[in-house]
Amino acid sequence: MVNQLSFNITILPIGESVVLSNLTCEQLGLKDNFYGEVNVENTFKKNEEEIVIYSSIEYTTHCICDCCNIPFDRKFLANYSLRVSSILEATSREFDDELVVSPTTNFIDITEGIKESILLTYPQKIVCKEECAGLCQYCGKNLNEIKSHICECHTNEVDPRFLKLKDLLSQK
Ligand SMILES: [Zn+2]
Ligand SMILES: [Zn+2]
Repeated sequence: MVNQLSFNITILPIGESVVLSNLTCEQLGLKDNFYGEVNVENTFKKNEEEIVIYSSIEYTTHCICDCCNIPFDRKFLANYSLRVSSILEATSREFDDELVVSPTTNFIDITEGIKESILLTYPQKIVCKEECAGLCQYCGKNLNEIKSHICECHTNEVDPRFLKLKDLLSQK
């Protein structure tokens, strides 16, 4: 199979060009919650001294809300940038990676860089929606399914401190 993220840099035109790569999470070696397609738009900027690649990545994962435990799928975006040149320069922090190649290098492969960028930017905490109401702390019901976001399971309960008062009142 042709590697979609390996590019022949010798045939790239001087100036700007865009190459789309469509692959799957499986091909990238992304497991667990990652599934389906990974779409990468690679913008190449080539001049006599160097080639710069800016990749914008779109991928999908199966998620579980950290707040209400509901499973859902979500698209995520990531970015990757690489400078390729044959001269070793002082490393700038402008790019995610810098690659020094010999003048005879034909192909560069950004598979690992793309995979890293996805793994590094994947959020630690994921919620189904910004205003997720979470679960009822008493019975575990999903509060997003209740309009008021207040579960009735405990609203009828009387505070034990008031029980005595209630008794006193009923004795009258
Ligand atoms: Zn949620
Ligand atoms: Zn409840």
